[in-house]
Amino acid sequence: MKIELASSYGFCFGVKRAIEIAEEHKGSVTYGPLIHNKDEINRLKNGFNIGLVEKLGDLKKENTVVIRTHGIPKNELAILKQKEHKIIDATCPYVTTPQNIVSKMSEEGYSVVIFGDKAHPEIKGVVSYAHNAQNAFVVLEAKELDALPLKLKVAVVSQTTKKPEDFAKIVTALMATHKEIRVFNTICNATFENQDSASSLAKQADVMIVIGGKHSSNTKQLHSICERDCTHSYLIENEKELEANWFKNKNFCGISAGASTPDWIVQNVIKKIKEITD
Ligand code: SF4
Repeated sequence: MKIELASSYGFCFGVKRAIEIAEEHKGSVTYGPLIHNKDEINRLKNGFNIGLVEKLGDLKKENTVVIRTHGIPKNELAILKQKEHKIIDATCPYVTTPQNIVSKMSEEGYSVVIFGDKAHPEIKGVVSYAHNAQNAFVVLEAKELDALPLKLKVAVVSQTTKKPEDFAKIVTALMATHKEIRVFNTICNATFENQDSASSLAKQADVMIVIGGKHSSNTKQLHSICERDCTHSYLIENEKELEANWFKNKNFCGISAGASTPDWIVQNVIKKIKEITD
């Protein structure tokens, strides 16, 4: 079995940075998972005593709190400050950018359209930076725009992990109805790079393995791109989920990994595929 890794895969700049920040603050706690990868969170817990707290009320006064890569809502940050926790901000700078844009544009009187998943932590954080909550709207599809009470001036940003072509559909639809549109392409390059290289590898591979958290929007999107280019594409969190029958009568296995997947998991997967196919 020929096994090949995508030319760009795995940890992005923002995740590497957040992990380094956490490692430098042994004994701290993260509010919400630092990244979308359970195995890496366990490694931080076992090796660096980094705790995880899901609810603000569960934090102890003495806790040093690390803010996760995808940020938190503005009001929650204010509560942490009020409670005088020591705060270590590991929010990815590519996520801070749309937060700042939403804040600025809403202050300048623009309606703000945010292309993304309402339930995603990054988007919950970004939308919270609008000065007027009634004037900031999260949409996933262009058809949702018709029902919105948008002002004539509209600013639009995207969730960092969305596909550019889908963001373009939102922008195009806004152009049909609005004269002044400020477009901020807040999709991050790490997503493009991993997606492009996974796509070109998937086109050649007989079977494609995508490694990452099943709740990670970034990994799910990588998987859907691979499925488009290679019918036999599978999304796994670690080597334990590999199934021998996926590799029957296949010669070329491509591998990619989401932006929150550590390299040691990728290496474990490669090792297990070799064992299965030997
Ligand atoms: S995928 Fe992009 S926005 Fe998200 S953490 Fe990584 S570098 Fe930051």
